[in-house]
Formats: sequence, structure tokens, C-alpha cells
Amino acid sequence: MEKPFVYADNAATTNVSDNALNTMLPYLKEQYGNPSSIYTLGMDAAKAVLNARRQVAEALGAARPSEIFFTSGGSEADNLAIKSAAEFGAKNGKRHIITTNIEHHAILHTCEYLENHGFEVTYLPADEDGIVSAEQVENAIREDTAIVSVMAINNEIGSILPIEEIGAVCRKKGVLFHTDAVQAIGHQHFDLKNMNIDMLSLSGHKFHSPKGVGALYVRTGTPLESLIHGGAQERGKRAGTENVAGIAAMGVAISDAVECIDERNIRLAKMRDRLIDGILSGIPYSRLNGGRERRSAGNVNISFRGIEGESLILALDIKGIAASSGSACTSGSIDPSHVLTAIGLNEELAKGSLRLTLGDGNTDEDIDYILEVLPETIKRLRSMSPMWQRICREEGIPDYTV
Ligand SMILES: *Cc1c(COP(=O)(O)O)cnc(C)c1O
Repeated sequence: MEKPFVYADNAATTNVSDNALNTMLPYLKEQYGNPSSIYTLGMDAAKAVLNARRQVAEALGAARPSEIFFTSGGSEADNLAIKSAAEFGAKNGKRHIITTNIEHHAILHTCEYLENHGFEVTYLPADEDGIVSAEQVENAIREDTAIVSVMAINNEIGSILPIEEIGAVCRKKGVLFHTDAVQAIGHQHFDLKNMNIDMLSLSGHKFHSPKGVGALYVRTGTPLESLIHGGAQERGKRAGTENVAGIAAMGVAISDAVECIDERNIRLAKMRDRLIDGILSGIPYSRLNGGRERRSAGNVNISFRGIEGESLILALDIKGIAASSGSACTSGSIDPSHVLTAIGLNEELAKGSLRLTLGDGNTDEDIDYILEVLPETIKRLRSMSPMWQRICREEGIPDYTV
């Protein structure tokens, strides 16, 4: 029998769909022109970029394609949005930024950079479900607030933040609102011409286009300052020869992603719930991180007492399961996830977390397989874990692994 392989890390990245791949291939081979060239080969490439811009605008319900600026991905889009707003804000004496303490590092580290350059940042604390309210945002807005940035869906715990309400508050107060919607494309409906969102980041590789391509939506009338200077590409806002193949692929991938949002969410939520219920009932001393309401359809994040996340990921890899953990090994030391600690987990639980994120490629058989492998893997790791044995001893828990 072939060794099973279950990919359960769709929040980290996704495979390129056949449709996206077939769309991009001609631009790597015979249609390799530079979109800035005026002969036919170049104009054909320019047409592909234009067409993708229309597709992205349409998928998001943007008022016009010119509101879409292609970037190298989600991180660049986040940087562009925040740094541009900061620069314009500073010109008007506005040096205050509002965000949350559960954002992706592309936002948090950009804010830290700006703090070192004379800006003040308010990090709104998420509650234990990973939600930040519009009221929190409203109370934090000041005269000198340049931008509010709140993510649409958290990448670790799948919490769905109330960005429509937050946008409405920002509009009322006349403050720019940006959302990192990288995890929301294909899971949430956007109709940007009727929403109070001024800027929105997305990344192609989270919805079946290649890595290294993304976009920033910028509502008409919103000032935008360039980060990358050079040629006049992207209406002078983002220099550099366009990633034509990647952009073309992302155009079809986002059209595909928004075509069946409701069906996808229903299918994924069923698998997610079976996984959550199966793990919580089948594995003692496990807990769900984040709430069950307002949770993205494919996200499972569970902590196990007495478990070290990275060992669990490696043990699951041997069994053919690709997943991730909230503990990230940064330069040799294992740091617990900032999101899990933000929602109140102690270091032990944050480090003992497992994130399984489901996508279009997953099946009911994948869930069966995870539910078969995970309990025995946790039991085996615990039986070898001094941390687990200490917990049993100190808390008087009977050790079921012996
Ligand atoms: C993946 C991700 C990003 C970064 O996108 P890249 O294209 O990998 O740079 C930013 N924000 C969130 C929420 C993400 O999940």
C-alpha cells in the first residue's frame, strides 16, 4: 500500500491549481514579452496583466480594476499599505497607528519598524476567541490616527474579525482602514464598492496560485506612496517588471476561489467539526484554541498538555501528515506563538499546539486518517515526555500512557 499523505497546512500555502498552472504556462514559454514593450509580444503580456487586474477587481467587488496594485505577495501588500498610510499621515501630523496583537508578522513587524521611526502604535488586545471589537477600535481612535489595520481572518486560530463594523467606525471617524484579508479570499464574500474598506491585502499562494504574487486593493481617492522605486509599472506605485505568469495565474485562481465560497465553507466546516470533536473526545488533556463561533471553515487549532509542538509536527510528518504548530523555532530557541499567548494561553499550552488547516484537496478519508494517527502519536510522545510525567505527578493526574 502506498504511504498516505495528508496535506493539512492550507493556511501556510496551497498547491497551484491546474487552471492556474495552465493559464501561466504560455507566459513562461512563447508569450514571454515584457508588458512595457510596445510590440505585439509585449502588448500580449500587458493584456494578460490587464485581464488579471479585471478578474481580481471583479472577485472583490471593487469599483474599478485600477484599484488593484500587484505586489510580490501578502507581506509586500501589508508593508505598502501601512508604510504608505504612515507617510501620508506624518505629512498631516498624524503619527498614530492602530492594529491588533494577533496580526501576521507582516503587519506587526512593519508597525515595530515604524515605532522606531517616530510613530506610536496601539495594539488592541484580542479576547480569548481571537476577536477585536469595533468598539475597541472606536475607543482607540485619536485625532492623530493615520490608519487602522485589522485582519479579516486570523491565520493561526481562524478567528473571523468584524471588519465590516470596524470599517464603518473608521469611516465615521474619517480614518483610513486597511485589512489583511490574506486568509479570507475564497472563504468570505467581498463587495468592496459597498464596504468601508480603504485598502485590502491578498496573497495568491493562499488560494491556489503560485508563491510570490499578491495584490493590494486601494480604494479610489486613497493616497498611495510607492515603496519600490524605479519604472512606471503599476501606475508608478510599484516599480519592477510584472510577474506576468504569476499575475495571470492569480487572476483565474481568484475567480475560481470566489465562485463557490458557500459550498466550500459548508464542506470544510463539516470536516473541521468532525476533526475538532474527534480530537477533543479522543485525546485527554486537549483544548481548542479560539472560539467555535466566528471560526474560519478549515481551521483547527488544538493544544495538548505535556507535548512539544515541534516534536509533534515531526512525528506526524513521519506518518505522512503535514501540519503546523504555534511554536516557531526562531534562531535556535522555540518561541510560543504571539497569537496563542495573546488569547491567554500559558507558555506550555502555546508550545503544545497543533494547527490543521483544511482546503479544497482534503477529503473525509483525510479526517479519518488524522483521527486514527493523532491519538496514538500524542500518547507515544507523552509516554516519553518528562514534561507530561511532571504534570501527572504535580497535578495528581493518572498517567494513561503507562
Ligand atoms: C500568509 C500570510 C501573509 C503573508 O503573505 P505572503 O504572500 O506569504 O507574503 C500575510 N498575512 C496573513 C494573514 C497570511 O496568512
